[in-house]
Amino acid sequence: MKIQKHQENVSGHYFVDSECIACDTCCGIASLHFKLTEDWDHAYVSKQPKSDKEKKTCEDALDACPVDAIHKN
Ligand code: SF4
Repeated sequence: MKIQKHQENVSGHYFVDSECIACDTCCGIASLHFKLTEDWDHAYVSKQPKSDKEKKTCEDALDACPVDAIHKN
């Protein structure tokens, strides 16, 4: 199946795709980097990580996503 990136993702390594079920897990783990849309339809990457610590936080969010909707390119 083709991965569909949500348009709100800021450009960079990490992105959320259309499989997201808006469970809010990634936003809880990495609140600086993942946000839900105002209508709570899905999450998106609002800020790409820069430091190693931020990257680790985003990796933790990626690993925790129950539907594998977070990707890294
Ligand atoms: S953890 Fe996955 S399913 Fe849950 S809000 Fe984040 S991207 Fe969406």
